[in-house]
Amino acid sequence: MKFYDAVVIGGGPAGMTAALYLLRAGVKTAMIEKLSPGGQVLMTSEIENYPGFPTGLQGWELADKFVAHLENYDLDRIGDEVRDIEVGTTIHTIKVGDEIVQTKAIILATGSRYRKLGVPGEERLLGKGVSYCALCDGNFFRGQDVAVIGGGNSALEEALYLARLVNKVYLIHRRDEFRGLVCYQDKCFKHEKIEVIRNTFVDEIQGADGVESLALRNASSGDVSQLKVDGSFIFVGFEPIMDFVCDDVEKESNGIITDVEMRTNVPGIFAAGDIRSKMCRQVASAVGDGATAANAAFTYLERLGV
Ligand code: NAP
Repeated sequence: MKFYDAVVIGGGPAGMTAALYLLRAGVKTAMIEKLSPGGQVLMTSEIENYPGFPTGLQGWELADKFVAHLENYDLDRIGDEVRDIEVGTTIHTIKVGDEIVQTKAIILATGSRYRKLGVPGEERLLGKGVSYCALCDGNFFRGQDVAVIGGGNSALEEALYLARLVNKVYLIHRRDEFRGLVCYQDKCFKHEKIEVIRNTFVDEIQGADGVESLALRNASSGDVSQLKVDGSFIFVGFEPIMDFVCDDVEKESNGIITDVEMRTNVPGIFAAGDIRSKMCRQVASAVGDGATAANAAFTYLERLGV
């Protein structure tokens, strides 16, 4: 069994920032991350709004910088999946892979996963033209026609990224108004390779062995039509990854409930980043959450006499 003063679960921007702050405060810390550190950032084509990088940078470049920063400190990294958390009075127990890890403070920072559209054909054609990651799969569609489904920042940004590679992008949104930022909307509307289709539902993703077309339905008239595409990229939001978090920790569908200090209802358990129930989901706000959670955890550990 291993023992740490603090354990950060998740290695995205929130988790890595929390680990950095804890280590700099001299707290014996481990970070549990089943994949490579970086989180959603690794799947983001371009990040234009992280302060300090006025010309923008690729998601993986930013993740690399976070990892390099952490390498200056003595962080224990555990590369496995958390199965369960048992809440104690002052010592909490984490089951990770086949190991047991005990700690006085936990920072939950596992982020979020893409939401599915939930239409026929989506599961069956996953990896055969259906994708949730433009950066990973965009290259397979060079010179072809693809659809991007969604109306938030992810859909708009990834439509712009895909337009660099493919012949045509149909940006399909269920409402008239986009949720994403006006600056991305303007770029999409002006882009010669992007055709915006609003007020439209995608009812089915069709094709035998690969995506061939989409069944569309107009939200106002109910008129149905078919759109020929070779690929379909779905960006209809994210949901927090919190299945492993025990019921002692208060949560709602949108995430773990915290106060402004990132404290959950359980003493010694904190949450940061996209796993948290909150409105703003940005790399910058995840980093802020991570720093705040680490400070709150440090104060908590000090009170325990660590
Ligand atoms: P989001 O902001 O939640 O937007 C999801 C979009 O998908 C909405 O337009 C929604 O339509 C649509 N949608 C949801 N369910 C649908 C369904 N079943 N069928 C059709 N459309 C559906 O998600 P996101 O774009 O992934 O962004 C997540 C968070 O990350 C947001 O806070 C966003 O601001 C942030 N983010 C920021 C940046 C950036 O700042 N550069 C980049 C990416 C993401 P309605 O609008 O009709 O609800």
